[in-house]
Amino acid sequence: MAECEIYLDNNATTQLDPAVIEEMMPFLTKYYGNPSGGYQFGAQVRKAIDLARERVATMLGCEAPEVVLTSCGTESNNAAINAAVQFEPGGKHVVTSAVEHSAVLRHCEDLAKRGCEVTFLGVDRDGNVDLAELEESIRRETAIVSLMWANNETGVLFPVEKIAEICRAKGVLFHTDAVQAAGKIPIRLRDTAINFLSISAHKFHGPKGVGALYVNRRTRFRPTIIGGGQENGRRAGTENVASIVAMGKAAERAVESLPEEESRVRPMRDRFEKAILASVTETSVNGAGAARLPNTSNIAFEGIESQSALILLDRHRVCCSAGSACKTGSSEGSHVLRAMHGQDRAGRSLRFSFGRFNTETDVDHAIEIVPKVIAKLRGLSSPVLQGATAS
Ligand code: PLP
Repeated sequence: MAECEIYLDNNATTQLDPAVIEEMMPFLTKYYGNPSGGYQFGAQVRKAIDLARERVATMLGCEAPEVVLTSCGTESNNAAINAAVQFEPGGKHVVTSAVEHSAVLRHCEDLAKRGCEVTFLGVDRDGNVDLAELEESIRRETAIVSLMWANNETGVLFPVEKIAEICRAKGVLFHTDAVQAAGKIPIRLRDTAINFLSISAHKFHGPKGVGALYVNRRTRFRPTIIGGGQENGRRAGTENVASIVAMGKAAERAVESLPEEESRVRPMRDRFEKAILASVTETSVNGAGAARLPNTSNIAFEGIESQSALILLDRHRVCCSAGSACKTGSSEGSHVLRAMHGQDRAGRSLRFSFGRFNTETDVDHAIEIVPKVIAKLRGLSSPVLQGATAS
């Protein structure tokens, strides 16, 4: 199997932290008891789940009972919106944005087909939502506002704490998809007006297929997955113990490593971005004028097709993407960039996303390879690139 040499797609997924693997392994081998079993062998597994929940709560700055363990970010997003739409009195309207991940966007489109009204807020050229427009869009029948904390394609941050205040003042529930924010920027839910928040372990060096939904202790919640009484009746199904334990460890490591996101990851991203802008003509950073995650660089290159660039970069063993990993191969290009710029940049942009396992050498290689690939695609032989081949 091919290994990636320069992995710059940390928004798609991340490498498992070795400390996480070590922590989860005994729960795949030795400690296989059902946490609901009424014996010691099950009780010790229950304890491990409780510890994981506490670690996730510490990462989110909330109380452990406010954390509902789920199978992924998508499930968490669906569960929050469903809870509001199905169970809020008069919940016939949802407000979201045109740049959400498909885990929210598609779900809302589906709700719209089934009779729920949905407002999809637009964004400006930098990817910002207009808070006045948001406020105006909230009506008496609005069940919930769902807006992401950090955009997975551009890294643009929405001011979710302010948005939550607006929603509170209007008496409407607020959910935020924080799948890309968790582990990259500080989150402290205590004292905010956020009702629901979604995370996914594989975005912060945990395993795939496990996530969590924060449900504020004063917020009414009804589950989407109904069956056994696990998760205090909020999410049925025998717990994915090893993955939950792993997510807990990943959350603990994320808290410890958070300062590195600013001191090491952001400088790597900035050095890369500066070098590309300096060495490749007619490039621009998507979302440059907005507050952004420290790790994400989404760059538009004039005169290329992102899909062709990805193929060439792959030959050089550089992993990056043309937008959301879930949409790779989509002919329309990025819906996020279309919302920001119309069709213009959607098919000619690349996302590079850094992480704490990247090294300065990765950045050096990327700075060398990306301009060669772009020059090759443009059919240019720029002076900087003379002698360079990008096969
Ligand atoms: N929300 C955002 C912003 C994401 O980036 C992703 C994954 O790419 C998801 C939700 C879905 O998370 P999961 O893969 O855990 O279902």
